[in-house]
Amino acid sequence: MKKYIMALDQGTTSSRCILFEKSGRIASLVQREFAQIFPKEGWVEHDPMTIWSTQMSAVTEALLKIGASWDEIAGIGITNQRETVVVWDKKTGAPVYNAIVWQCRRTADFCKKLESDGYGELIRSKTGLLIDPYFSATKIAWILDNVEGARERADRGELCFGTIDSWLIYNMTGGKVHATDYSNASRTMLFNIKTLTWDEDLLSLFRIPAVCLPSVYPSSYIFGYTDSAIFGASLPISGVCGDQQAALFGQCRFNEGELKNTYGTGGFLLMNTGSEPYITDSGLLTTIAWGLDGKVTYALEGSVFVCGAALQWLRDGLKIIDSAADSEYYSKKVKDSGGVLVVPAFSGLGAPWWDPYARGIIIGITRATNKYHIIRATLESMAYQTADVIDLMQRAAGIKVSALAVDGGASANNLLLEFQADILGVPVERPECVETTALGAAYLAGLATGFYSSLDEIKQNRKISQAFTPKMEEETRSLLIKKWRRAVERSLNWNE
Ligand code: ADP
Repeated sequence: MKKYIMALDQGTTSSRCILFEKSGRIASLVQREFAQIFPKEGWVEHDPMTIWSTQMSAVTEALLKIGASWDEIAGIGITNQRETVVVWDKKTGAPVYNAIVWQCRRTADFCKKLESDGYGELIRSKTGLLIDPYFSATKIAWILDNVEGARERADRGELCFGTIDSWLIYNMTGGKVHATDYSNASRTMLFNIKTLTWDEDLLSLFRIPAVCLPSVYPSSYIFGYTDSAIFGASLPISGVCGDQQAALFGQCRFNEGELKNTYGTGGFLLMNTGSEPYITDSGLLTTIAWGLDGKVTYALEGSVFVCGAALQWLRDGLKIIDSAADSEYYSKKVKDSGGVLVVPAFSGLGAPWWDPYARGIIIGITRATNKYHIIRATLESMAYQTADVIDLMQRAAGIKVSALAVDGGASANNLLLEFQADILGVPVERPECVETTALGAAYLAGLATGFYSSLDEIKQNRKISQAFTPKMEEETRSLLIKKWRRAVERSLNWNE
């Protein structure tokens, strides 16, 4: 009897395995953290073998924990830290270098040069991305240029390149399958998101041989079967999706105009834009959300650099709260922020301001201001920044949003979500299952194997734990937003 879908959630700091029941309930969850490697200032690496071994041990323990057997698994979904790359030997599976992590800035100079050589528009129009070390292309190029013999081996077709999903698929299938899905491919800066092919112009710009790249398939698709000598059974790997896109799917944001925000250390907003890749110069990224049923769904993506991190600053920097969760308790001690605004532009501001020289400010202080006002204003800054990105998305796609689905650590904060609803003027919904990333991968995997029959069936699973409806008067709302924008203007261009 097939009872569970297995989701592998391979994140930046841990590998996790979750077994979901058909209802979306979590039957078993195991998490294994692994080491971050910082060889130099600004460089970040992972050991690919540790990624693989922590992922495998999480799988084994997740089954053991509830006494589940392989026969009960209806399919495996993979979701992963995006953009991080591994290059390995096609025959032996041995990596030629550590995984270069999305956070790694080692290719910043290369990116600057690409920008000054005028490649920005070409890259944006083909990939929907901005030139940045974040994306995979320059990281692969770095390995080929810096690891002895790598370029010659690549030219002879002896190496495989891939994001973490590809690395896991290769290992899970005993080296038989070298593949990725549209959502991960769209983060490499090598994939043409309109023609859905590896782009020849970009491959030659980055000097990357096509023979080493994975085949690209829909996100809900049978990529291959696990090797029973490794996995204990031959099971279909039937869903693959990058983490943020998987969260959008796990939140059941299946239709155009639906969006989610993940309030983590940073904030990650994704809006489903249906069959249309809206490529604009707004600074938002255009990306593939997923491939399903012969169609590709696109998304707009924007991020807030400092989201939950602002509360970490209150805790660790100012030391006026003991934990991030305390921010709610203290904020409630005052009826509002007393006219105080905090702009947490600690390392510049992203969308829609795009100012690396902006720096944080606390403004609107009077003799009546106390620490609770400052805590509350910091919490509110998360909502204002989120609203700014959503406003930009609505204008870029010409779509009016009608609700916001939320997840991530700070989405536990009711006061934050109440204020978010007020500032947006639309309801904010927190689902019961906040493991939306793994759930998205599980749903995609379950659709490909027939465990789920349709999106409608999946939608039945979605239970809202709490919905926050806007209560603020329109007049107050626009006044607050106006004040916020004035505060942001004062934070801009400070560090010039
Ligand atoms: P990440 O995956 O980026 O590490 P998480 O989704 O685990 O982040 O969320 C962690 C962030 O959420 C931290 O920055 C923390 O300050 C914030 N956070 C956690 N709990 C709360 C809470 N109850 N209220 C507000 N913020 C919170």
